[in-house]
Amino acid sequence: MNSSFINEVIAAIESREIKAYYQPQYDANTGRLVSAEALVRWEKANGEIVSPDSFIPELEKTEAINLLDWFMAEEVCRTIHELGEAAVPIAVNFSRWHIRERDFSRKLNSLLSTYGIQPRMFEVEITESAMAAVEFSIIQEWAYNVADIGVSIAIDDFGAGFTSLQFVKDLPVNFLKIDKAFLADNCQDDRGRGTLETVFFFANKLNLSTIAEGVETIEQLKFMQNMDCDRVQGYLFSKPLKKEDFLVIALMDNQPTVDDDNFLKKQGTF
Ligand code: C2E
Ligand code: MG
Ligand code: MG
Ligand code: MG
Repeated sequence: MNSSFINEVIAAIESREIKAYYQPQYDANTGRLVSAEALVRWEKANGEIVSPDSFIPELEKTEAINLLDWFMAEEVCRTIHELGEAAVPIAVNFSRWHIRERDFSRKLNSLLSTYGIQPRMFEVEITESAMAAVEFSIIQEWAYNVADIGVSIAIDDFGAGFTSLQFVKDLPVNFLKIDKAFLADNCQDDRGRGTLETVFFFANKLNLSTIAEGVETIEQLKFMQNMDCDRVQGYLFSKPLKKEDFLVIALMDNQPTVDDDNFLKKQGTF
């Protein structure tokens, strides 16, 4: 373990160089903003913006990641609180260490109450590979505790790790977040398309909502619409945004639109 690097990250959290960015998620059919994912960014003093791939894997080797994830969770609670009536549910990525954090759900529940956040506004993302690293009975207890406080669980990067049907069948999971690698080639060949169609068939059978991440093209969006995918997220719609920019989008989206009849009447336009 490189402890000086970890200390540097901890210092960056304290000095607020580490920030939560927000990537909007849209209803695949109506195009409405329905939720978002919080993604960490390190804004260095020299203006450089560092992506998580260059520090999360190192941090994840130790429990130091917990500090960062709880920091993100608190930032998200603040944002939801600030949005008030215009808030949408926001997902936070948690690493595998949290599955073994004995009081995870109690801690999350008390964080939510501190900010007066309804549990349905907060979503926990955990990757399939994180789950595969822990004994099933432990994951099960953890997941039921999370579900008990009313927070949703999404399996992130679904299909890319060690997909176990047991994760989906025997855990209180709400969302399958299909790994973006599947989208990259879905439109190109029959095997890719077939795999995706099977995942959606399976999700629908089990009443799970679906999220497609990494949607970059119109072709991929159309495919997701045909699959009845619930939410779409990707560069086609928006990159992860600074908090200020996300607040604007969330506040604007929850205003009535000009083509809304009632709105025009209320405005006395005719
Ligand atoms: P992830 O949770 O699977 O997040 C999705 C990644 O896809 C993000 O990368 C996002 O910026 C990127 N992405 C979004 N739209 C597109 C697109 O259209 N095309 C492509 N190619 N990529 C897209 P990012 O932000 O670099 O994060 C990488 C990973 O780092 C995340 O993958 C997640 O596993 C981890 N991570 C990010 N923030 C946190 C955090 O606060 N805590 C923990 N434990 N892990 C985090
Ligand atoms: Mg994620
Ligand atoms: Mg993912
Ligand atoms: Mg990933």
